[in-house]
Amino acid sequence: ENTFAGVLSFLRRKYTRDLAGADVVVSGVPLDLATTFRPGARFGPAAIRAASVQLAELKPFPWGFDPFDDLAVIDYGDCWLDVHDQATIVPAIVEHARGILASGATMLTFGGDHFVTYPLLKAHAERFGAALSLVHFDAHCDTWHDEGPATINHGTMFRRAANEGLVDPARSVQVGIRTWNDDFMGFRLLDAPWVHENGPAAALARILEIVGDRPAYLTFDIDCLDPAYAPGTGTPVPGGLTTAQALAIVRGLEPANLVGMDVVEVAPAYDASEVTALAAAHIASDLLCVLRNRKVKGLGRR
Ligand code: MN
Ligand code: MN
Repeated sequence: ENTFAGVLSFLRRKYTRDLAGADVVVSGVPLDLATTFRPGARFGPAAIRAASVQLAELKPFPWGFDPFDDLAVIDYGDCWLDVHDQATIVPAIVEHARGILASGATMLTFGGDHFVTYPLLKAHAERFGAALSLVHFDAHCDTWHDEGPATINHGTMFRRAANEGLVDPARSVQVGIRTWNDDFMGFRLLDAPWVHENGPAAALARILEIVGDRPAYLTFDIDCLDPAYAPGTGTPVPGGLTTAQALAIVRGLEPANLVGMDVVEVAPAYDASEVTALAAAHIASDLLCVLRNRKVKGLGRR
């Protein structure tokens, strides 16, 4: 088949539930029940997969290698969710992640709205046995007032994660923030004006300094990008990063001890010419190249 033809998996990777030998497992969590504004992110995983196949044609730029020569990546498909029973959502996603992490593979997960990161963090903190450093790209801090464990809300889950000790705010960084919260909970902020003022190289240096070699979970809410670059999302906010700025930061994350990652909040119904899905696919593809380099250089997860 042509890369754009047939049934589309992420970067045309094998679509399978066989975890044997996989270094990285790509999967989707098609949830959009936790949104506060425009829903539709349940279709994000399918849109990112479809947009990714353009990248399956050539060696990725600027890397110049085929990451799959050295990194075994499968597309596991999507987590099954009972969208009519909200109480089942967190356990379903935790179980999905536990099953994959038990194989020893690293997860690259596509949302879904950003709430999916909370159960993913639960499974990762359990696996890595410590409060994680969160490397969080977003227009929003997502640490607003939490109405309690029975609620699912894509604007409060990092308050819950910090309160439960899943992440360490002092060793976590939020990049691209441009919405207000009276209490940022001690998370380190590189807000969008700071990134525009100082540039991606300085942002990268600060991120690496904050997380050090601690186990780090990277979460990329696509609304970190300006609506000009990512209109297809539930809660767009003007003044964000360009796709080029974001890629420049992501491409430099090789020194970080990345133990898991996700790209969330792509809502294709509001997209234009697939630019949002394409940006998400590029970010995810570059994350795989970062992981490939870490594997080749013997920088395994610690
Ligand atoms: Mn978010
Ligand atoms: Mn956001």
